[in-house]
Amino acid sequence: MKTIKLLPPEVISRIAAGEVIERPAYAVKELIDNSLDAGADNLTIYLENNGLKKIIVHDNGHGMSKDDLLESFKIHTTSKVHEVDDLSNINSLGFRGEALASMAAMSELVIQSRDESSLVGTEVKLKNGVVNSINPLGMPVGTTVIINNLFQTIPARKKFLKSARTELGHIIDIVISAAVGNPKIGFSLYHNQRKILILNKSKERLERISLLFPVSKMSNMIQVSHKDQFIEIRGLISPPTESLSTSNKEIIYINERQITDTQLQKTIKLAYGSLLPFHRYPYFIIFIKLPFEFVDVNIHPRKEQVGIANKENLIEELTQVVQQALQKYTITSDVHLLFSPKDKTTNSVMGLLLQENVDTWMVRDSEQNALKGDPLQIDKTFILLPVKKGFYLVDQHAAHERILYEQFSKAFLLEQSKVEQFILSAPVELDLPFVEMQKLTDSRDFLKRFGFTFSTNKTRLFLTAVPLIFRDRNYVDLILELLTRTDDVLVAKEKSFRTDIQTHKTLAYLSCRQAIMAGDMLSNSEMKRLLEQLNKTSNNTTCPHGRPTRVYVSQMDLYRVFKRK
Ligand code: ADP
Ligand code: MG
Repeated sequence: MKTIKLLPPEVISRIAAGEVIERPAYAVKELIDNSLDAGADNLTIYLENNGLKKIIVHDNGHGMSKDDLLESFKIHTTSKVHEVDDLSNINSLGFRGEALASMAAMSELVIQSRDESSLVGTEVKLKNGVVNSINPLGMPVGTTVIINNLFQTIPARKKFLKSARTELGHIIDIVISAAVGNPKIGFSLYHNQRKILILNKSKERLERISLLFPVSKMSNMIQVSHKDQFIEIRGLISPPTESLSTSNKEIIYINERQITDTQLQKTIKLAYGSLLPFHRYPYFIIFIKLPFEFVDVNIHPRKEQVGIANKENLIEELTQVVQQALQKYTITSDVHLLFSPKDKTTNSVMGLLLQENVDTWMVRDSEQNALKGDPLQIDKTFILLPVKKGFYLVDQHAAHERILYEQFSKAFLLEQSKVEQFILSAPVELDLPFVEMQKLTDSRDFLKRFGFTFSTNKTRLFLTAVPLIFRDRNYVDLILELLTRTDDVLVAKEKSFRTDIQTHKTLAYLSCRQAIMAGDMLSNSEMKRLLEQLNKTSNNTTCPHGRPTRVYVSQMDLYRVFKRK
């Protein structure tokens, strides 16, 4: 029976334009979607050279008849949507009928498939979109798609790709994203003959979630659960005592598909209200189920964003569900803990940076800077410093960030051999989720240059030393945040140790995380030491992110403002 047909033109025009296969990871994504749509419960993915040389996705789904197979790679052929109305009720992952066609156009594509009604399978080989051969093939029911030499004929596309490692990282993210959404399906991933990930079919979603969150964090996460006629919300959210400096671990699925929706992310963050410290983010994984007709998957070329009908309702319910879960939590938890997050290190930061090796306050350089009176903290954020001919207003966080950045740069860039390390009395085992563990393995040398060293014991990874400056910090969390922050912060490129952008970003990040925050109360002598350090620092007028650290207002300015001159 032939189930694949060319879409009517009006459907084609309704389909959002956009290229699907921009990078190997997106090809992998499309192939996984196809296998899931075909009802497979076991997928095996083999890669060579980060997917550029070879991508193979093998599934045990319902497969295709020979007739269907020969339609499948033509543009806009699909078995999933037939008329305009179908577009508003899509329950499959694919529907545009363009993935295989795009892949065929950009690679040497081989598709092998057999459905239940056929005794043998069929193998079709294509080169740059043109069929080279069609042959019968003995194989079990299911489909194998092989993409050879993707982008070979499009050098510009190939050049556009970032480093190879980032690409494998993207592919791993895609596989994990699908695996977490579909716990009942087995996934295996191999790269250059090396086993990367074997996930057996499982009834337990938690096992899969542990690929994304450290086990120690997961055990503290709070369950949310809600179901009514239309909306089902389930998941885990971080306890209010814990937070991250980035929103990278705010994960939302709608109908088994991971999506990006900053409005929903914000909704959840807002539900925490003042339980979260300023500039901090919760981490969570939320699975939302909505009727298919409420979800428009046709607004983004890769379906990473979706349109949601009656979104206000969802937002309201989500807020309630999260608030309820948090409320239960606050009743049973230690109130004191809620307001002093464990990672709060003002004291130790001060201890390390502002009390060590610092001369007592002394007036430096110019007349202009001669101190007159005590500094004054304003709104726990700014410091007002009267000097002889006016006053300075200093942003305490930006100032401290700059001081630390310069110290780090000096230690790490100019005097690398002298990076001061703090050797841990006992190695600390790192409980990192899969993705971060992969990144860390790849970034060990890079991190070593900053003073973090590691040892391994079989598959376990231990932290053995940290930069001295992080002695009292929660360095395990710090490493986790550094790794989850963004891909590009940590991809170690060349050996050259210039202030390349990666290094700058990493240093700026470390400085920011170490610096005192807006909202931290400072004592008189702490303020003085901070200001003195700032004075000693070169480039001290802006923080590493380019914001000003201080503003000078002269007596002359004051006279002018008050029209006395
Ligand atoms: P879409 O998924 O949007 O329909 P594709 O180009 O990805 O478009 O695939 C075209 C058609 O080929 C699909 O509609 C489906 O019928 C068939 N197909 C693709 N991959 C598989 C697979 N792994 N198993 C069974 N059928 C497949
Ligand atoms: Mg598809």
